[in-house]
Amino acid sequence: MVFAAALSACGTTYQLPQTGSAENVTAKRMFAEARAEGPRPQLSSSAAEQRFRRVSARVGRAGTQYCQTLTADRSGFDCNVDLAIDRKMTSRNAYFTYDGDSPIIRISMPMLRDSASDDEVAFILSHEYGHLVGRHVEKQQQQQLAGALILGAITAAATSDAGNYDAGLVAASMGIGAAAGSRAYSQTYELESDTLGTRIAYAAGYDPVKGAKFFARPEQVRTTSGNLSFWGTHPPDEKRLAIVLATVEQINANVGLAKAR
Ligand SMILES: [Zn+2]
Repeated sequence: MVFAAALSACGTTYQLPQTGSAENVTAKRMFAEARAEGPRPQLSSSAAEQRFRRVSARVGRAGTQYCQTLTADRSGFDCNVDLAIDRKMTSRNAYFTYDGDSPIIRISMPMLRDSASDDEVAFILSHEYGHLVGRHVEKQQQQQLAGALILGAITAAATSDAGNYDAGLVAASMGIGAAAGSRAYSQTYELESDTLGTRIAYAAGYDPVKGAKFFARPEQVRTTSGNLSFWGTHPPDEKRLAIVLATVEQINANVGLAKAR
């Protein structure tokens, strides 16, 4: 009961579009095509910087506006993201996190240099705005706490029933619970960020479907604690591409974003 309540409080804020066989087939085909293209030429550092400046100006405006509209009912919600290149990061990645209370989005030089179009960088940055609008950092912290408390309580009950309350075991279980809690919804959050990111990239004047081709690049899953990265604990990439396709269909049919029930 407590567990169900805790989980439902941590679901997505917005409804994910339904994906059917049409989107799945298209996603699979696009995925195979993109993989077959093989390695693409790397941009020079200066071309990568120019691409970032060009795209971040437009996505920054669209993302801020989208964030302000969707969080208008939350007083003091900070939509002013500091958007910059993380020059120390050596892997292809991008992430959203908070620096103190301030939201920041970073993208690495290897990711920029590996991008094949402005649309791809626009989609990546827009996806990270999705983590802000979906309040994923905040929710993940609540989930970790809920997971820790639930498993800790179960272990405490079990060990005290047996007549020997084991504080060490309870603490260890709380650690395991926290980790399980944070993984439980991270995949759903990636999909929610993809839906929101598709809408933001489109609003900024980019092609989200072309941009989402970045998913076809093979990449190790990497996460840095406290950051929500582009790759995250990611769901199968074709599923993500299908969500992007379904969202674009909604946009074309004038179907707006709906709150989750
Ligand atoms: Zn992400």
